[in-house]
Amino acid sequence: MRRKLAAGNWKMNGLASALSELDALQDAASGAAEVLICPPATLISSASSHAGNVTIGAQDCHSAPSGAHTGELSAEMLKDAGASAVILGHSERRADHGESDAYVAYKTQAAWAAGLTAIVCVGETLNDRETGQTLDVIGSQLSGSLPDDCTGENTVVAYEPVWAIGTGKVPTTEQIAEVHTFMRSTLMSRFGDDTGSAIRLLYGGSVKASNAAEIFAVSDVDGALVGGASLKAVDFAPIVEALNAS
Ligand code: PEP
Repeated sequence: MRRKLAAGNWKMNGLASALSELDALQDAASGAAEVLICPPATLISSASSHAGNVTIGAQDCHSAPSGAHTGELSAEMLKDAGASAVILGHSERRADHGESDAYVAYKTQAAWAAGLTAIVCVGETLNDRETGQTLDVIGSQLSGSLPDDCTGENTVVAYEPVWAIGTGKVPTTEQIAEVHTFMRSTLMSRFGDDTGSAIRLLYGGSVKASNAAEIFAVSDVDGALVGGASLKAVDFAPIVEALNAS
């Protein structure tokens, strides 16, 4: 049985004063679903010391365990600061930093080596979708970004159509279902039925309180990766409650 997961990605938002949002999430986070907040790295340590029912994650890590990489953070450092998971291969990092599938796979291995759960993001652009390449793109990203030793414990996959992130545009439930069914069968063929069916699949892209319940009713959607609506507990708690009720 896969535990549902509501993951919030604060991106480059949040000063110390934002940690009060974690306090305001405690009731919603006491339900069946796991609640994860990935604040900027500057807040991981302080967030983890008063996280309560919320688990704390990071938004990226370097592929190397240590070394001459000015400004970068290793997975072990993030773990040491209190993170239990890390988002990898987010489309903003793929676009802003030219991260390839192979590089995401190296980072995933680095995350595992430090004991972090890797939340690996995949998703098509609008052009990919309009030219009928969505499943080819997702298949290729899964193939290249996921190393061979994935398990239900060490890996979560997030389907995030690039055109739906921060835009207010959301795929239809049929479109989400098509991709999630495809991802499930792809993972089962590659990793075997047990492992492939244990890996949690999140949907991400303009999830909000008003659309969460219908997205969570889609088969093989095990939760959400949420950007903008995770910044304030007043917006994120109803999404968590919808997941608890799903
Ligand atoms: C994201 O950045 O992962 C995301 C899903 O953002 P938003 O919810 O704001 O679309």
